[in-house]
Amino acid sequence: MPLYDFHCRNCDHEFEALWQRGQRAPACPECGRRRTRRLPSAPALRLGTDSAPARIARRARDYLVDGKVSQAARFLDRAAEHVKDDRVKRIRDRVHRARQRKGSKKK
Ligand SMILES: [Zn+2]
Repeated sequence: MPLYDFHCRNCDHEFEALWQRGQRAPACPECGRRRTRRLPSAPALRLGTDSAPARIARRARDYLVDGKVSQAARFLDRAAEHVKDDRVKRIRDRVHRARQRKGSKKK
């Protein structure tokens, strides 16, 4: 079941929930209301599929190819929270190290 970000219009809380198209909107964990709306979220962040790490790696590579290192790092931080996988963790560590090197080289 895919994981989505939701926003509560009642209390402004943002949270993540497993949700399937066609289901009722999940109740807000803060206030319990169902005045929640789904936020656009990364399609790579899906649980329960073997190919999630591969998709995450591909997407991270796309960012890096475009030179968007900090975006790649943010994406990988987020991905690593949801997908416990050595490959994702390794890529994430590598991108973070690359960022630090880049930062320290500034003139
Ligand atoms: Zn709420």
